[in-house]
Amino acid sequence: MAIKEQPKSPRFRIIANILLAVSGLFLLLNLFLPGLFASGPAGVPYSLFIHQVQEGEVSRVSVGQNQILYQLKTENAEPGQVFSTTPIFDLELPKLLEQKGIEFAATPPPKNSWITTLLSWVIPPLIFIGIWQFFLARGGGGGGPQGVLSIGKSKAKVYVEGESAKITFADVAGVEEAKTELVEIVDFLKTPGRFTQIGARIPKGVLLVGPPGTGKTLLAKAVAGEAGVPFFSISGSEFVELFVGVGSSRVRDLFEQAKKQAPCIVFIDELDAIGKSRSSNGFYGGNDEREQTLNQLLTEMDGFAAGDATVIVLAATNRPEVLDPALLRPGRFDRQVLVDRPDLSDREAILKIHAQKVKLGDDVNLKAIATRTPGFAGADLANLVNEAALLAARNLRESVAQEDFAEAIERVVAGLEKKSRVMNETEKKIVAYHEVGHAMVGALTTGNGRVEKISIIPRGMAALGYTLQLPTEDRFLMNEEELRGQIATLLGGRSAEEIVFNSITTGASNDLQRATDLAERMVTAYGMSKVLGPLAYQQGQQPMFLGNGAANPRRAVSEDTSKAIDSEVKEIVETAHEQALNILRENRDLLEAIATQLLETEVIEGEKLHSLLSQVKRVALHN
Ligand code: ADP
Ligand code: MG
Ligand code: ZN
Repeated sequence: MAIKEQPKSPRFRIIANILLAVSGLFLLLNLFLPGLFASGPAGVPYSLFIHQVQEGEVSRVSVGQNQILYQLKTENAEPGQVFSTTPIFDLELPKLLEQKGIEFAATPPPKNSWITTLLSWVIPPLIFIGIWQFFLARGGGGGGPQGVLSIGKSKAKVYVEGESAKITFADVAGVEEAKTELVEIVDFLKTPGRFTQIGARIPKGVLLVGPPGTGKTLLAKAVAGEAGVPFFSISGSEFVELFVGVGSSRVRDLFEQAKKQAPCIVFIDELDAIGKSRSSNGFYGGNDEREQTLNQLLTEMDGFAAGDATVIVLAATNRPEVLDPALLRPGRFDRQVLVDRPDLSDREAILKIHAQKVKLGDDVNLKAIATRTPGFAGADLANLVNEAALLAARNLRESVAQEDFAEAIERVVAGLEKKSRVMNETEKKIVAYHEVGHAMVGALTTGNGRVEKISIIPRGMAALGYTLQLPTEDRFLMNEEELRGQIATLLGGRSAEEIVFNSITTGASNDLQRATDLAERMVTAYGMSKVLGPLAYQQGQQPMFLGNGAANPRRAVSEDTSKAIDSEVKEIVETAHEQALNILRENRDLLEAIATQLLETEVIEGEKLHSLLSQVKRVALHN
């Protein structure tokens, strides 16, 4: 993969801009205040000057508006040396000088002719503009290397196919879902006829979403390698730079270039740098520059019709939650592909890819390494292989041994534990029982949908493991029993921890929050409490400035009612907790069996999961 139009790094460009600005300023100052930087006569405090006058050491004085220049009598100084001092408003000075018999005169104020005035105002800006233009011209000149200051010109790198270091889908392991999606895009670019002929519309924008280091950028490069069309790549942070208005013109530029070369792919890495929600800027307007850039991007994406110019926009982000909703609307990034952390078998596959680059010893067992690295993303695994190779070299070995990997894992984990989630063995065990607890309670109670997947691979930023339930049909209405079932399921995780470990961890806080919210809504909004009756209560204060008071009418609630609500909510949650505990106690052996299996495979899903969960024994409802 070759890179045409090698860009300078943004930091370098910023520094260059600052340097230029500073030198321009210096130039101006130098022209306007000639005395400032010239090496002048030695400066002396005014008090010393007066002292010297009174002592009779001074021979000649020249009094100017801003400066007094004087010479000393030769016995006190080198002949011809001139001293200067800054005058203070002193009407007594002439009198004093006369008294001491010192020769003095006033210097006339410097007379500027209109020509010098004009020149000093006009020339510096001209020089400044000249330098600017010079760099601009260098930067914009087609195929040549980009100039230091090519402001406004898109910094998109163009990857061209047919080079030796081409990245293909074979270099990316795991992430099958994402690969399938992107293979389709590549197919479309290669043979658009096949799609357009039956009237299929290919998505304009595809957004890759996932935690850092899971291979989003790598996937995009693989698309470039496979597609055989020009591939423009730019990072979101490169849009947002020093000068206002540049980001949006850069977007315009990028798409202009892209349209000329269609069919092609535009890849915007780290989209969140420009695509942050416009409303998330708080009260005081926010970042105009980024907003303009975002608006321009939206305009451009709307601008090309899906049919004619086949420009497909790929983007990647690890913070989808901050993106402006406008970006996710149909016709823009309407397809989102999850690039998640790899599971056990994917990790082994990724290790295999990266291990090709190093010499492996006979005792290396990649599967064992994969087992020991839950939570590692692709980038961490690549790093791990390299770390192990470094250790092998340090130990003067011919090839990398399992031992080196073991040590490398410890190093990488130590580094990762600080910045993200990598679980140790105990934590992994707790999470496994917790998730199985959710799943088993969920299997027995109604209102949850079917449990489709349990996983102890950390997902996203918050959850340690997760239990995925898919509704079997679209549901709009739920009855009381179903809601109680949902609450019990939410408490299933914590209940399992209580039963198995006889202790509670902090991991369930989100579950408890959701369970409590649900119970509160049952009481205050759905009228499902016998004590409080079918009334709508809204507790708590809402921030005034949100201005949605009308949509959320609040009833003043008396203290007694408030207490009653609290106790009803508590009753619902505790009953559900009891129910969850009963189910799990009754099925203790099965809990053990499923958790052991989950610890081994990290993910259980589909048919296998269904058949396991169908063994959960019903318990009499305790009410
Ligand atoms: P992201 O853009 O998602 O933060 P990158 O694509 O930059 O992550 O990944 C960094 C590196 O990690 C890649 O260059 C590659 O070496 C390695 N890597 C990440 N994911 C994978 C994967 N699924 N298969 C193979 N290598 C991977
Ligand atoms: Mg990336
Ligand atoms: Zn949970």
